[in-house]
Amino acid sequence: MSPYPNLFEPLDLGFTTLRNRTLMGSMHTGMEEDKDFTAISRYFEERAKGGVALIVTGGIAPNRQGWLKPFAAKISTAKEAQKHIQITDAVHRHDAKICIQLLHAGRYAYHPFCVAPSRLKSPISMFTPWKMTKKGIHSTIRDFANAAKLAKSAGYDGVEIMGSEGYLINQFIVKRTNKRNDEWGGSYQNRMRFAIETVKAVRAAAGPEFIIIYRLSMLDLVEDGSSWEEVIELAKEIEAAGATIINTGIGWHEARIPTIATMVPRGGFSWVTHRLMGQVTIPLVTSNRINTPEIAEEILSNGHADMVSMARPFLADPEFVNKAKAGQAETINTCIACNQACLDHAFQNKRASCLVNPLACHETEFDIQKTETPHSIAVVGAGPAGIAFASVAAERGHHVTLFDSATDIGGQFNMAKKIPGKTEFNETIRYFKKRLIAAGVTFQFNTKVTADTVKDFDTVVLATGVHPRKITLLGADQSKVTTYIDVLNDKVEIGEHVAIIGAGGIGFDVAEYITRETDSNDEANYSSHWGIDKNYTGRGGLDSNGIAIPKSPKSITILQRSPGKVGARLGKTTGWIHRSTLKHKGVQFESDLKYDHIDSDGLHIIRNGKTETECIKADTIIICAGQTSNRDLVHSIRQNGQEPIIIGGANVAAELDAKRAIDEGTRIAATI
Ligand code: FAD
Ligand code: NAP
Ligand code: SF4
Repeated sequence: MSPYPNLFEPLDLGFTTLRNRTLMGSMHTGMEEDKDFTAISRYFEERAKGGVALIVTGGIAPNRQGWLKPFAAKISTAKEAQKHIQITDAVHRHDAKICIQLLHAGRYAYHPFCVAPSRLKSPISMFTPWKMTKKGIHSTIRDFANAAKLAKSAGYDGVEIMGSEGYLINQFIVKRTNKRNDEWGGSYQNRMRFAIETVKAVRAAAGPEFIIIYRLSMLDLVEDGSSWEEVIELAKEIEAAGATIINTGIGWHEARIPTIATMVPRGGFSWVTHRLMGQVTIPLVTSNRINTPEIAEEILSNGHADMVSMARPFLADPEFVNKAKAGQAETINTCIACNQACLDHAFQNKRASCLVNPLACHETEFDIQKTETPHSIAVVGAGPAGIAFASVAAERGHHVTLFDSATDIGGQFNMAKKIPGKTEFNETIRYFKKRLIAAGVTFQFNTKVTADTVKDFDTVVLATGVHPRKITLLGADQSKVTTYIDVLNDKVEIGEHVAIIGAGGIGFDVAEYITRETDSNDEANYSSHWGIDKNYTGRGGLDSNGIAIPKSPKSITILQRSPGKVGARLGKTTGWIHRSTLKHKGVQFESDLKYDHIDSDGLHIIRNGKTETECIKADTIIICAGQTSNRDLVHSIRQNGQEPIIIGGANVAAELDAKRAIDEGTRIAATI
């Protein structure tokens, strides 16, 4: 019997049946705007082949005003629809189904001719929208219907109407953004009208045997959002208007509460969908931070939803569903919810990918074949770069020995996984360990490699990573000065007053670590700390007390020399969460300064433009000032007549992160 009986139960939609309960949620990949759809078709095909039942594409606008950005993808002409046949054919070859997401950005659009129910700029937008005329409203509804008809002609099994996340339809629903006093605003009946008329028009245009998913914002997480009673009413109206499935939307983009980042507990929002179960008769899909078959099964077996939507987990592993079905969940490459290569890329107008799976959205760039000339390879260092290289090289047929002075694989991930909210990094270590074993890699742990250790190998790969940068500062040799490594390995006692030198990802992580007694990432704390009202008494699901992350009893200051916002270089879509968490914990941020000296009182700094020093009281000073490469083996290996291949942090320490380390290891191993 399958370990996931609920997950693998087909879902009968009346006119068609889904092969299981998995839906691949909509993600913008940056390929939607490609002239040639070969890459995006291959991307979807891999996921269809991997067993998912129903795929939803990235958001495609029904008209020009609905574009997310200038020249974003849209489907309003037969020519535009024609291109999509390549995608739908690729997906149907593997018996999966696919819906196109129709997304009108409304006031979230990044262009000057964006429109919205009212002329109100969003706090995260550059452009103030034009107020839609009544004529404009009717023509937009017709555009949705036209887009659905075109999608059907292109072979899509259905559409998902994007009614959540604060986009146009959502903007009509709530008073926050809808100040109209005509039949499209005012009473709730009027504010719902645009959503209902859109669903009705799409149904009329596409006919009865066409899946219509409506993505309904069940928890706005913004002030003046919908009340729970309104959510129920809307769901009933949407069902009556002809939707086949209702999908869950959580949080507007302008909400200041994390909803999908790694600190959100797994399945942390299925309770919202659960509340709606039984209020409508059509299937409900739940979403957000579902990343293992176990959590998906638990949600379904607890009756929280009829189907689960996972988006990023299908970037991390296109084979997710097939592996679960085969009872091999431990071989799934788990999405760690870092956002680094998917959402962060989307916000930087770069093609999406995945930190743990660089092939994602780049499938056509890789041609990983068995080697015709297997040789012996020593990989020194089992951090992200080394394990990515070793697994691909061994799968290609090379004889790989993986060395590390530590007791196991993982490198710096063994520190990262200790940070509150980053326990998902354990999954990456687990996945690679399984993969390396399956590929036949020989492990040599507890081995501090010298040039002699590897002199008999055909090829030597140095993935020796980095070590913390030392700083030269008067007093830096005092015992109160320590490295992030000693802190994260619990080798030092942390005082009451702490100064952290360096405000990069590690400086922030260390601050989270030493304030972990007020851990907001803990499942029990998450909702109350972030001000989410699970009783849904107020509008938007917001707790009237607001964010309630307790202050740390320690006094902590994070410092950087450069001017500007502290932590400005943290991830695009996650940096604000780290800054907000630490601010609520009472951590101070200081920038635009020079370090002068350290003494028994603390860290003495000079602010830019000033001459006198100022003391930041500190009994512990933690150096998080970046890293330098571990390259001390390079010379001696060359002296043995070998030219090492250098990857990851050992290659370039600046701007190093695991995304680059894994990508580099994978790409080089694919060609060796
Ligand atoms: P490393 O991970 O440093 O691995 C090098 C390995 O080589 C080590 O295991 C070491 O023991 C071994 N080694 C070195 N010399 C020898 C020798 N002579 N013989 C044998 N073995 C040797 N990155 C992100 O992208 N996202 C994050 O959220 C993130 N969070 C982080 C949090 C923390 C607290 C830390 C410390 C790092 C974090 N990073 C994060 C950074 C990320 O972990 C590194 O960029 C990545 O590990 C670099 O990979 P690497 O393989 O080049 O080197
Ligand atoms: P980093 O991001 O490069 O930050 C280093 C910090 O040290 C900067 O704030 C820098 O600011 C300061 N600094 C640099 N040289 C210094 C010197 N000589 N003296 C004093 N201060 C100095 O490096 P990191 O924080 O060590 O992180 C390493 C890598 O891991 C990063 O590239 C990061 O992407 C990755 N990481 C990512 C995450 C994540 O959540 N995505 C988390 C952890 C780590 P000033 O020069 O202005 O002083
Ligand atoms: Fe998940 Fe990170 Fe990959 Fe995005 S980049 S899919 S969040 S593991």
